[in-house]
Amino acid sequence: MISIPTIGTIKSKYTEKADPFEMKREESILILDEQFVEGLLGIEERMYLQVLFHFHKSNSYSLINEWYYRGERGVFACRTPNRPSTIGTTTVKLLKIEGNRLTVTGLDALDGTPLIDIKPWIAAQDQIVDADYQDEFFKDNPRASILQALKSNDKKRLLLDSGALHGHFCPGLAYGVIASVFGLERLAQRSGQTLDVFHRDGGLEELLAIIEINSCFADGIQYVSGATLGNNGLILKEYGKSAVTFTKRDGKGVRLLLKPEVKGILAEVAPEFNPLFEKVIVGQNRDEGLKAQYRAVAREAGFALLEIEPSSIFTCEEVDIAIPAYAPIRPSQICRICGESVMGGKMSKKDPTACRGCMNDDYDILDGSGIHKEIIG
Ligand SMILES: [Zn+2]
Ligand SMILES: [Zn+2]
Repeated sequence: MISIPTIGTIKSKYTEKADPFEMKREESILILDEQFVEGLLGIEERMYLQVLFHFHKSNSYSLINEWYYRGERGVFACRTPNRPSTIGTTTVKLLKIEGNRLTVTGLDALDGTPLIDIKPWIAAQDQIVDADYQDEFFKDNPRASILQALKSNDKKRLLLDSGALHGHFCPGLAYGVIASVFGLERLAQRSGQTLDVFHRDGGLEELLAIIEINSCFADGIQYVSGATLGNNGLILKEYGKSAVTFTKRDGKGVRLLLKPEVKGILAEVAPEFNPLFEKVIVGQNRDEGLKAQYRAVAREAGFALLEIEPSSIFTCEEVDIAIPAYAPIRPSQICRICGESVMGGKMSKKDPTACRGCMNDDYDILDGSGIHKEIIG
């Protein structure tokens, strides 16, 4: 048996066991015992710290545990506080230093937790450059990192990652991210569950997002909620409003609508945005310099909007709605004329053995101007 000295105490707003991702959102304070304060020399140069602490409320352990995501895991393959050696470790962000008090975010330790050690997190040593190990995890949990960002209210991370889908950053994409974070939290509350419920659904038609407009807004919604055009989770009910309803299959949902006052908020956080939008987007000015200026301002405006209280941007009300059935699975058919395979039920109405293309049928199209009928004959 060894005995490990403690160097201080942790102050947190959490006194009881809680969801670690919720805990990580809040600030905590590391209070160092006075005799160790000199040991903080140079720590202000470090943005991230590894904090080691004692799970003081843990008094038993089990070698096999219910894993957070799915199934069972051995104690050394998960982060449960109930372990043979009750040491916790978390990487945190250092916000402020005042004497012996270090304010941090990202810590998931309870109030009164004894502090064992603080070490700097150093990218060159601690960053994992070989990403192979992560691949297997993400094969099983493709949306795990999105769920983590959602649970820790990390809108900046979600907007950055949505940019990979959308191709640029703009206020519309930011509205989609904000609506999803705000709306999914409210939906989880309404169903008396935590945000985990959206992870376990795996984005397979259990969560529906009904959007009322097809614009940049829709991509923020698709990325964060996982309800997409491809998995039939995304439905377009074209009212032309910047609104979205999130619902589970029970039809008990929440509808978020962009407030008209947002124009004023946007003008305040990014005064250059509206005049540039008029010139470049509305007026279709093709000047490269102006376009570059617009992109930069749209990007800054999008990130600035994340700082605004979501309830100032969206109204959110509970709604009960009728929801569509699961996507039907019908065998595909081969068109007798072109020989191409056609999804079941999508053959021509004029001749059910041929495709709509070969029969010159009218069809519905969704493009930049919304849903409309393309009349051929
Ligand atoms: Zn956009
Ligand atoms: Zn055909």
